[in-house]
Amino acid sequence: MSVKAGLLKRLSHGGRVICAEGYLFVFERRGYLKAGAFVPEVVLEHPELVRQQYREFVHAGSDVVLAFTYYAHREKLACIGREGDLERINRQALRIAREVADETGSLMAGNICNTTVFDQDDPDCVSKIDAMFKEQVEWAVQEGADYIVGESFGSLGEAMIALKAIKKYGQGLPAVITMCFYQTVVDGKVCTLDGVEMCSAFQQLEEAEADVLGLNCARGPETTVPLLKEIRKVLKVPVAALPVVYRTTEAAPNMQALKDPLTGARLFPTNLDCAACSRDDIVAFGNQCLQLGIQYVGLCCGNAPHYTRTLSETLGRQPSASKFSPDMTQHFVYGDADKVRKYNQVLVKSGLE
Ligand SMILES: [Zn+2]
Repeated sequence: MSVKAGLLKRLSHGGRVICAEGYLFVFERRGYLKAGAFVPEVVLEHPELVRQQYREFVHAGSDVVLAFTYYAHREKLACIGREGDLERINRQALRIAREVADETGSLMAGNICNTTVFDQDDPDCVSKIDAMFKEQVEWAVQEGADYIVGESFGSLGEAMIALKAIKKYGQGLPAVITMCFYQTVVDGKVCTLDGVEMCSAFQQLEEAEADVLGLNCARGPETTVPLLKEIRKVLKVPVAALPVVYRTTEAAPNMQALKDPLTGARLFPTNLDCAACSRDDIVAFGNQCLQLGIQYVGLCCGNAPHYTRTLSETLGRQPSASKFSPDMTQHFVYGDADKVRKYNQVLVKSGLE
């Protein structure tokens, strides 16, 4: 298949697409984005770093350059007094993503997300949110996106507004919709923030003609997989799974609920490091995705190239970063038996052992 085949072609006949997410946390960790408001100002201030990060995720195995327009919407830009930069930040993130996608043979995806202003009890919010999505989707189309991702929706109502906006303003581009599930449970069933049972929510999105549906963000691999099993039973479209890279548990199923094991303090958002997944956790997650037939796979907050490479290799790929995948046979202590024996002799001779 041509490397430039579109998303739906790549997913046809059970094909799989890997998509690296998690830019927001990457740039917060690197010191170019402020935790709290979480607005991707780095796109305007250091476009060269965004370009490099796009490249690194492709190098590590992502099939997609996801334009870093997460939280680059009207509400968030207004929050930091930069509403005037709205179009510039979107177009810049999209344009660089298109360039890196073209140079690497990857897909480029536009990105809309949770607006933070959805209120199920306020019908007036629908037109406001639709207008926010309209402008972002139109910019993504103009800058050459191959498809549009609508992500991190906690409420079905808002996910539906996003899907309809992609259908209405997206010039026929495919729509990938992923939702976050927190701790809303009704009658023992996991529900959206607006109280809709999870499988029912996804069935409604499927009826509204989403092309790919699934989970992203909030939950780590351990608490995402049980939900994937349920979703797989009811959906016909390809299923997506892009968990955060943190060790969430049954007691704390989403990263916002994780506590420091030593102090009991909440870890979100800046102390999550102590709950980071190991690479072996990602291998286990990748294997579960293979078993469950998850076709659109990636990692969200906490992601970094080494995790994406591990995921990619688990899914049977050899991305260019695999050239430097670990090979401990070359290690002077933990390598092959001969080397270890010689090393031990040196230690004994030196009186160190
Ligand atoms: Zn995330």
